[in-house]
Amino acid sequence: MADTFDAVVIGGGPGGYNAAIRLGQLGLSTACIDKRGAFGGTCLNIGCIPSKALLFASERFEEAGHSYAKLGIKAQVSLDLPAMMGHKDKVVGELTKGVEFLLKKAKSEAIVGEARITAPGKIEVKGKDGATRTITTKNIIIATGSEVAALPGVTIDEKQIVSSTGALALKEVPKRLLVVGGGYIGLELGSVWRRLGSEVTVVEFLDRITPGLDGEIGKNFQRILTKQGMKFQLSTKVVGVEKKGAALSVTVEPAAGGEKKTIETDIMLVSIGRRPFADDLGLEKIGVKMDQRGRVVTDGHYATNVAGIWAIGDVREGAMLAHKAEDEAVACAERIAGKAGHVNYDAIPAVVYTAPEVASVGKTEEELKAAGVAYKIGKFPFTANARAKTIAATDGFAKVIADAKTDRVLGVHILGAEAGNMIAEAALAIEFGAASEDIARTSHAHPTLTEAVRQAAMGVEGWTMQM
Ligand SMILES: Cc1cc2nc3c(=O)[nH]c(=O)nc-3n(C[C@H](O)[C@H](O)[C@H](O)COP(=O)(O)OP(=O)(O)OC[C@H]3O[C@@H](n4cnc5c(N)ncnc54)[C@H](O)[C@@H]3O)c2cc1C
Repeated sequence: MADTFDAVVIGGGPGGYNAAIRLGQLGLSTACIDKRGAFGGTCLNIGCIPSKALLFASERFEEAGHSYAKLGIKAQVSLDLPAMMGHKDKVVGELTKGVEFLLKKAKSEAIVGEARITAPGKIEVKGKDGATRTITTKNIIIATGSEVAALPGVTIDEKQIVSSTGALALKEVPKRLLVVGGGYIGLELGSVWRRLGSEVTVVEFLDRITPGLDGEIGKNFQRILTKQGMKFQLSTKVVGVEKKGAALSVTVEPAAGGEKKTIETDIMLVSIGRRPFADDLGLEKIGVKMDQRGRVVTDGHYATNVAGIWAIGDVREGAMLAHKAEDEAVACAERIAGKAGHVNYDAIPAVVYTAPEVASVGKTEEELKAAGVAYKIGKFPFTANARAKTIAATDGFAKVIADAKTDRVLGVHILGAEAGNMIAEAALAIEFGAASEDIARTSHAHPTLTEAVRQAAMGVEGWTMQM
């Protein structure tokens, strides 16, 4: 085993493992270090993948119990939670093993251990057995990701007061679940447990859920989730929590201050966001610049202020998303190999995997208004889409925003079934600098949900045909 490499990646998440793979493809000798014991990072182990496995299974459970009868299917449905968790664990196990295989294929050494940078080009790795290995490398990529942001005064025990990690592994369905934070993680996990039988209340500090998403989409999304039985307390903050026997008494007050109230719950999920994680890496000692939010500062090409040290993914600025980390991994690896890697941040989609899904790419109306950009809009509801009718999924709409002068697509926002798959077309359109007319004149198979995007694009120039 060599202890000298061209590049070493610290962190085996979507940022880290993709960087190692791309570096290997480009002929550099690499290693990828992760302390977790299973590769794939937050995303594969305790994030994207387990949550999507439970979202899928719980959605089928709810459909079988409530919607199949309308389709002429009679079913007696009951929940086997351990088996559902078993499905999730199996998927996670297979995919994390898959990452190890991919690293091997790229001739990147997968090292399990905790890494610390002792000097530029020098890393010390402490293995599970306590043994230390010293590695020398020309380049270090920091891809150490993020961790759950704490709620002041609240201690997460992962049993009664849980983070997303605990909420992915509850042993039984709580009667009442209080979700603190109306972002995508809280809404996804809240949806899982509501479908399985919990009464779910979401407390959100802001006056809207899913901040950052298009406002019109957010409002309609909240209306649909409310219809499904989720309760919302907006402009409200949690200021304390007390254990009361097997239950929790949670104190809330208006975000702007005011009269306190208590909410009784069985489980509280803290999902107020994530914070970049670069603890114990030794960055301060070697002078790597961090910002006030604890993110590693880089230039546009992922280089830190210390030569040979780079950073990608959740640990640096930008959306905390797996595919953003992956895109930065590819660009950073290509830069290290002397190529011209680049990420177009306007073309990075974001998806909420609830039912219906929410997906968006590019600018929201709010952002364009704030920037003083003149725009036109086309919209199309799924109630008027043939495929949506056939699959009994008519909630939501597609919205295309284009530049008023040039017709260039600036943003696409979809609330509806399969929105997460459909947004790929819009991301490609933005990446290619397409006009809304390009989408409108592109043939879309019939009957598909994607026709709603086409009809919305037609609407930008006022010629939506099927409404
Ligand atoms: C519940 C949940 C659901 C999510 N769902 C989605 C989704 O659907 N889609 C999406 O795009 N994103 C989703 N995310 C976000 C996504 O998981 C992250 O954006 C992504 O994992 C970031 O990748 P990364 O490589 O930057 O870091 P991580 O995936 O966080 O990987 C960092 C790795 O570094 C390791 N590490 C840290 N310090 C050291 C050290 N000193 N030595 C060795 N190893 C170290 C950690 O063990 C970790 O495995 C979700 C997150 C959560 C929590």
